[in-house]
Amino acid sequence: MVESDDLDGHLVREAAAKSLVDHIFFEADAQSSHERGQALARIAITATVALLLLLHTATTATPLSGRSELNLLVGIGYAVFSVPYYRWIIRQPRCCRWRRYLVIALDLGVTAYFTFAFGLAGLGFYAGFLWVIIGNGLRYGPHYLAVAAALGTAFFLLATLGNGSLSSQPGIVMGLLLGLLLMPRFFLAMIHRLGDANRLLAKKKQEAEYQATHDALTGLPNRTLLEGILARELAAAKRDGLRLAVAFIDLDSFKSINDNFGHHAGDELLRQFAACLQGRVRGSDTVARLGGDEFIVLLHNCGDPGTVAAVVGQLFACSGRYYRIGHQETYVTWSCGVAVYPHDGNSGSALIKHADTAMYQAKSAGSGQFRLYDVAMSAEVAEQLELRESLRRGIEQRQFEVHYQPQVSLPGERIENVEALVRWRHPLRGLLYPGDFIDAAEQTGLIVDIGYLVLEQAVADARCWREQGLGEIRVHVNISPHQLTQPGFVDRVRRMCETHRCPPASLGLEITENTLISDLDATSDVLARLRGDGFIISMDDFGTGFSSLGYLKSLPIDRLKIDRSFVRDIPGDAYDCTLIEATLMIGRQLGLGLIAEGVETPEQRAWLVQRGCTQMQGFLFAPALPAARLEAMLKKSG
Ligand code: C2E
Ligand code: MG
Ligand code: MG
Repeated sequence: MVESDDLDGHLVREAAAKSLVDHIFFEADAQSSHERGQALARIAITATVALLLLLHTATTATPLSGRSELNLLVGIGYAVFSVPYYRWIIRQPRCCRWRRYLVIALDLGVTAYFTFAFGLAGLGFYAGFLWVIIGNGLRYGPHYLAVAAALGTAFFLLATLGNGSLSSQPGIVMGLLLGLLLMPRFFLAMIHRLGDANRLLAKKKQEAEYQATHDALTGLPNRTLLEGILARELAAAKRDGLRLAVAFIDLDSFKSINDNFGHHAGDELLRQFAACLQGRVRGSDTVARLGGDEFIVLLHNCGDPGTVAAVVGQLFACSGRYYRIGHQETYVTWSCGVAVYPHDGNSGSALIKHADTAMYQAKSAGSGQFRLYDVAMSAEVAEQLELRESLRRGIEQRQFEVHYQPQVSLPGERIENVEALVRWRHPLRGLLYPGDFIDAAEQTGLIVDIGYLVLEQAVADARCWREQGLGEIRVHVNISPHQLTQPGFVDRVRRMCETHRCPPASLGLEITENTLISDLDATSDVLARLRGDGFIISMDDFGTGFSSLGYLKSLPIDRLKIDRSFVRDIPGDAYDCTLIEATLMIGRQLGLGLIAEGVETPEQRAWLVQRGCTQMQGFLFAPALPAARLEAMLKKSG
C-alpha cells in the first residue's frame, strides 16, 4: 500500500513537473513570432560576425591562412543559411521537431566552433556560446538535451580519438562539454523543482479553499458555500422562472444523544445522518450543514406541492429510524421546515429564515414533523405525503385489485378482449379509482410494483377463464412509462406468462402515446422485442398527445385506441367527427387494429359502425367489472 502511495506520489510529481516544463517550452514553441525574432537576431549576429571577420582580414593585410578562411566561410555560411531558414518559418509557422533539432545543432556547432577556433582570443565568443546553451536549453528543453548529448558525445570522441588538436587542449574540451550538458540540466532540474513547488502550492490552496467552504465533520458544504450556491441558484431561478425550495432540518433531542452517548457518538450520528440525506436527494440538489445538528437541503427546480412532497418524502426515510453508533442503536427523528422561492422569499437569507421559522412550528407540533412556511400549501403536501405512505402500505398488504372492462366486437357484441384496470381497496376510503392515486404512484415510482401486481393478476385470471372454457379472452394491461424503462421488464413479462402458461397472444399491453414519443428509441426497442414474442401492443388515448403520424408508421404497434375525449361529442361535433374519420383512415392504411374508447350512447355506436369501426369499449356495453362479475357475463354471453 505504502509502495503504491509512493508510486502515486511520484507519478503526480512527475506529471506536475512535466506540465510545467510543457507549459514553458511548448507555449514558447507555439509562438512562431518568437521563433521568427530569434531567426532575425541570428541573421543580424552572424552577418555582423562575418563582416567583422572580413574587416579584420582586410585591415591586417596579411594573406588569409587556411584556418582564417574556414572561420570566414563558417560565419558567412551561417549568415546565408539563416535567410532561407527565416523564410521557412514564415511559410510554415508551426514548429516541427526536425527544424528544431537542426537549429539547435547548428547554433551549438557554430558557436562551439568559434569558441574553440579562436582559443583564448575566442573568450569573447564564450558569452555567445553560453547564451546559446542557456537560451536553447530553456526554450527547447528535452529536445535540446537530446541534441546536446549527441553533439557532446561526438565532440568527446573527436577529442580523444582525433589527430591531437583537440586533445592537446583538455581544459577547453572539458569546459565545452560541461557547458553543453550540465548547464541546461541544471536549469531543467530547477524547473522541475519549481514544478514541485507549484503543485504543492496548488494543493495547499485547494485544501485551504476546501476547509473554508466545507464542514470538517461531514464533508458537506458549510454556510459560506451554501450561501454562494443559493445565490447562484436564485439568480438562475429568477432568469428561468423556476422555483426553489429550502428545507431546514433539525435533529430532535440531539442534545440528549450527546449527553447519553458522548460527543463521539454525536459526531458519528451526524456523519451517518449527513450521508443518509445525501443519498436521498437528486444530483442537482445540495445538502449543507449549518452547524450543530442543523442541516439545509436546497431543492433545485422544486416548488409545487407534488414535487415538494416527493422530495420531503424521500428525506423522511432518514427520520424515524434507528442509527447504529458503536454497539448501540439509537432512534432518531427530525423536524423540517420548508420555504419556497418566490412565494416565501426572494433572497437566500429570507428563505433560510422562513424555513427556520417553519421548522420551529414543526418542532412545536411534536417530533418527526414537517411544516411549510405557507400554511395552505403545508396541508396539501401533508396530504400527498400521507397518500404516498398509504400507497406503500397498500402494496405490502396487497390492497390492489384488478377489474376488467370488456372490449366488444360488433355487430354481435362478442367479448374477445378485456382491459385490466387497477382499483385500490383502501381500508378507510373505500374503493379508489386510478385518478385518485396513479399520479402519486408514478411520481414515487411505486407504479412499477403496482404494475407488476396488475400484470400477474391479469395473466392468472386469463388462464383461469381459459381453463373454465370461457374462450380465448385476451387481456390488455396498461403499462406505465416507468415499467417500460425498467431493466429486465421484457424478461419478467415473458417469465410471468410462462409461469401461468399463458400464450403471448393472450396478453396485450397498452402504452399511452406520450410515453412512446418521450423516449422513442428506448421504448420502441422494448416494444419491438415484446411484439416479436407475440404480445399485442396498443397505443392508448390516441390523439391526446403529439399524434405524430410520422411515428405511427415506424412504431411497433398493433392497434390504436381512439381516446374517449374524441368519442364523447360525436356525432354532434363536426370537428371530432372529422378527426375520428381521419384516424380511422390512417389506421386502416397502416394495417392497424382500431378501437374506440368511452362509447356511452347508441348514437355514438351507430356513427362508429357506419364508419367501419367495429371494436368498442365503453359504459354502453359494460363498465370495468370485478373478475367474478366478468366471468358471469362471459358465461351468459357464451
Ligand atoms: P385508460 O387506459 O384509457 O382506461 C380507460 C378508462 O376510461 C378507465 O378509467 C375506464 O373506466 C374509463 N372508461 C371506459 N369506458 C368509459 C365510458 O364509456 N365513459 C367514461 N366516462 N369512462 C370510461 P379508469 O379505470 O379510471 O382508468 C383511468 C386511467 O388510469 C386508464 O386510462 C389508465 O391510463 C390508467 N390505469 C388504469 N389501470 C392502470 C394500471 O394498471 N396501470 C397503469 N399504469 N395505468 C392504469
Ligand atoms: Mg388503457
Ligand atoms: Mg385510454
